Amino acid sequence: METYNQLLFRAYHKYEDKLDIATLRLYLYELCYAKGINLYLMLDETADESIANEFEKGVKDLALGKPLNYVLGYSWFYGYKLKVSPSVLIPRFETEELVGHLLAYIDEVKNDDLSLVDVGTGSGALAIALKKEAPFLKVKASDISLDALKVALENARDNAAEITFYEGDMLKPFVENNDKFDIIVSNPPYIPDDENVEHSVKDYEPHVALFGGQDGLDHYRDLLKDVPKVLKENGLVAFEMGYNQKEALTNLVHSYFENVKIDVQKDINGKDRMMFVKF
Ligand code: GLN
Repeated sequence: METYNQLLFRAYHKYEDKLDIATLRLYLYELCYAKGINLYLMLDETADESIANEFEKGVKDLALGKPLNYVLGYSWFYGYKLKVSPSVLIPRFETEELVGHLLAYIDEVKNDDLSLVDVGTGSGALAIALKKEAPFLKVKASDISLDALKVALENARDNAAEITFYEGDMLKPFVENNDKFDIIVSNPPYIPDDENVEHSVKDYEPHVALFGGQDGLDHYRDLLKDVPKVLKENGLVAFEMGYNQKEALTNLVHSYFENVKIDVQKDINGKDRMMFVKF
């Protein structure tokens, strides 16, 4: 019988040209963790048969380029376990940073009576993490994709996060309901249509969640035009954005609103990634 370590290295030697050892180790770690086994304490023990079988099967998909989180069927976001399917984008580390900044802002305003909407919620990542970390927030979320919403609903339920979800394009459901929010947050699809994107992203992740028109900014335009109908006085609009969109997005925001304060923050890789628009 094979040990976990032997299983790992056999897969590595088979797919050396396609997969790195860190991805394989992380995959095996997650399969073990889900069964209450800590891989790093068990490397030289005989591998559990069902884990070994699942690992062998999943490694084939990984070698084809399928992202690890789709192979696993879940992802970790801000410490919360979220189901992911090919109908939703895999939550990114950068988006966790957006949660961190928003929590700091919420802390600063010292108001327990805040409402927030997550526009284009996908897996529900932003809405769920924010609701769990700041339970007093009243949180709503929208997505245009019903399949994505089903995933988000399940994630909210599994994480016991009280969020109301709406099917619809950007802010439209809230304009129709005459809803008002203190905070609007969105990680819209922002990649320009003709930008080269890694195969594992382009071939597997939902294009509706990735591409934002010729300059990548179509969804920001769509959202910004409805902001006055939905944002409360002195509200905040927070975006994730592409690393090279600071100038274009700043100009776009100013073309809609003259008297707002714009603050752009970099992600951990030093790239412009988040924009905060204070009204
Ligand atoms: N950050 C994602 C990527 O680079 C894109 C996310 C988005 O368009 N909102 O793949």
